[in-house]
Amino acid sequence: MNSAQWIEKSDRCIMKTYGRYPIVPVRGEGCRLWDADGKEYLDFLAGVAVNNLGHCHPRVVKAIQEQAATLIHCSNYYQIPQQIELAELLCSHSFADRAFFCNSGAEANEAAIKLARKHSRDTTGKPERYGIITAAESFHGRTMATVSATGQEKVQRFFDPLLHGFTHVPFNDIAAMASAIDDNTCAVMLEPIQGEGGVNIPDATYLQQVRELCDRHNLLLILDEVQVGMGRTGKLFAHEHFGITPDIMTLAKALAGGAPIGTMLAREEIARAFVPGTHGSTFGGNPLVCAAALATVRTILEEGILNRTEEMGEYLLGELEGVAAKFPKLVKNVRGIGLMVGMGLQIPGGDIVKKGHELGLLLNVTHDTVLRFVPPLTVSKAEVDAMIAILESIFAEVEI
Ligand SMILES: *Cc1c(COP(=O)(O)O)cnc(C)c1O
Repeated sequence: MNSAQWIEKSDRCIMKTYGRYPIVPVRGEGCRLWDADGKEYLDFLAGVAVNNLGHCHPRVVKAIQEQAATLIHCSNYYQIPQQIELAELLCSHSFADRAFFCNSGAEANEAAIKLARKHSRDTTGKPERYGIITAAESFHGRTMATVSATGQEKVQRFFDPLLHGFTHVPFNDIAAMASAIDDNTCAVMLEPIQGEGGVNIPDATYLQQVRELCDRHNLLLILDEVQVGMGRTGKLFAHEHFGITPDIMTLAKALAGGAPIGTMLAREEIARAFVPGTHGSTFGGNPLVCAAALATVRTILEEGILNRTEEMGEYLLGELEGVAAKFPKLVKNVRGIGLMVGMGLQIPGGDIVKKGHELGLLLNVTHDTVLRFVPPLTVSKAEVDAMIAILESIFAEVEI
């Protein structure tokens, strides 16, 4: 079937939860995708920061193939060696002592919210101490609790009553955070760098000040690294840039190279609040996804991916600054850490994305006016150059 035929069929049977573009990717390799008509695309979205090692990385493919032929699923009623090894690997490279596995970013954040509430109740004896402060323009997922945590009206609209206990404050505003804390607050939950909210990078000291506030008020600091973790910023976890550690961290997106996984990591004295019966997941951390994740994490750590990300991030940022200088009427600013890069536009970016598609470039616009560049961390200079050439040709056409 060609793309048009797939799109027509989709229109008849798929729920309309996404404003999908008329592109039907059927094969991928590295930074390239091919659609059902054989058209090639340069992929600067990478499954929304999921395919950090590019499409179909040989080590991930091999791990999935071997594990699929050995044991796909068995249940968390039993011990799962791949899950144990993955937990050990993630803990040995982070502040955390223990991991819980689930299937998505929203589920990881759900787990974090439940753990924070239970920990608060267990340690203070106050059931009313369940408040969690999150940021305006944040994004934490699409389940009811994570929609309630998310600081975007467009995500919450139509679904009230929301889950009680979330307060939203402006991101990167420590005074607002301080004044939102009350006797019933148990945690602060933040993305170290906001992704869906428009690639918002906080001031160097913001997260340190949040950490200090949390320590002073005995609050847990939950960092949602679902999008910016796993090497995206040039460090394994984004909070490493800011010289702090959280109490709980959530990961998902890139963790298993495209296989569906989420994890919630915590220090021992907090993890202790979860005991048999308090939380769980049928699929969470099954042998197949954990084998994929092990191959992904090991590749990131063993093949110099973090250094490469830092280097290519600087190169991409420099090239985009060049574009910004050439098109000052179109581009407001460029910002980024590693390969988490945003270009603020003076105009909505939807048409630029569509023109990119015509020219074989997959790009994304978030928060209406921010072009988000999250290519595979394995992207080459030649691929960045090719993307820049396409972008400049689009901008040249747009600018009157
Ligand atoms: C994508 C994302 C989520 C939600 O992850 P899902 O796997 O779609 O549930 C949560 N938080 C952040 C920061 C994200 O970018």
